[in-house]
Amino acid sequence: MAATFDEIGKALREHQQFVVLGHVRPDGDALGSQLALGLSLKQLGKNVLIWNEEGVLEKYSFLPRAELLTKPPATAQHFDVVVALDTAIQNRLGNTLAAIASAKLWINIDHHVSNPGYGDLVLIDSDAPETGEIIFRLIKSQGLPMDHDIAENLYAAISTDTGSFQYPKTSARTFEIAAELVRDGDLDVGRISQQLYENYPRRRLELLRELLRTMRFSECGQVATFTLSLNTAAELGVIPEDNEGLIDHLRAVHGVIVAAFFEELSDAKVRVSMRSKDEMIDVCAICQKFGGGGHALAAGARVRGTLEEVEQKVLEETGEAVKRACIS
Ligand code: AMP
Ligand code: MN
Ligand code: MN
Repeated sequence: MAATFDEIGKALREHQQFVVLGHVRPDGDALGSQLALGLSLKQLGKNVLIWNEEGVLEKYSFLPRAELLTKPPATAQHFDVVVALDTAIQNRLGNTLAAIASAKLWINIDHHVSNPGYGDLVLIDSDAPETGEIIFRLIKSQGLPMDHDIAENLYAAISTDTGSFQYPKTSARTFEIAAELVRDGDLDVGRISQQLYENYPRRRLELLRELLRTMRFSECGQVATFTLSLNTAAELGVIPEDNEGLIDHLRAVHGVIVAAFFEELSDAKVRVSMRSKDEMIDVCAICQKFGGGGHALAAGARVRGTLEEVEQKVLEETGEAVKRACIS
């Protein structure tokens, strides 16, 4: 059921046992939003667990109180409230789902246009560039606790999911929220940015070198792709988080409208990651055809098949979409 900030605020105050979840292959928005809401609830005196299938990633281990983010336990637990953040489809909560024995209430807070609205209280704002912005408004409108650590987690969520305040949904409000976080949390923007964007392991660049070797462009140069096989990933010793953001190199090329990245997974599926530079080409619609989802300009799917099969099918759909949009 669609819920207001007030309804969610009331539910948060009324209950005691919480678990805050985010999507698999988490990004800065998922982890930052989870920590921010979790910390705010803890300060209210609630019992809060914060789970993610991967726990905390090396890359985001600098986030304040990152140690609170854990993998779910083997034994399922009972909760009053489960809060799912930044997660377009319920099964993208991964193995955290199996660790929930029961819950009185499910709250779903997200900004993905493809979110079907699972849960009892649902707050989806697809105009929000990140879930972090919705959490900020929830905290402010309901008078929930805010401090330096919460502010830094929200700033990281906002910075990463807007591509450093570049993507089209970035609005005056986004800058106003960021300014308020910097001011009230006394944040060191330079340090946070350095930890987010200038702290990668060397193997990430070595991975980029290999990806660029596989780079291909469509005839007119509007669609650009690269692929990663399990073999290459093993040879380089890369871990899943290493490829976050590398697709932006393809989108950044003049003339490219759609970028697609195909990553072979160990379960006979391929992870498809897509980006678009033009609202006329809705990559969420393309990914939904393959059981995925996301946003119009950034979406993904996990598709059964080999790298070659999945690439061919997805590129066929993409070619059709480009043709329909009559972009030349
Ligand atoms: P990614 O390419 O993995 O960075 O994902 C781009 C956007 O699409 C993110 O907002 C994801 O949450 C969303 N997304 C990625 N994969 C899926 C999927 N399998 N189902 C639904 N949404 C997805
Ligand atoms: Mn996300
Ligand atoms: Mn997000």
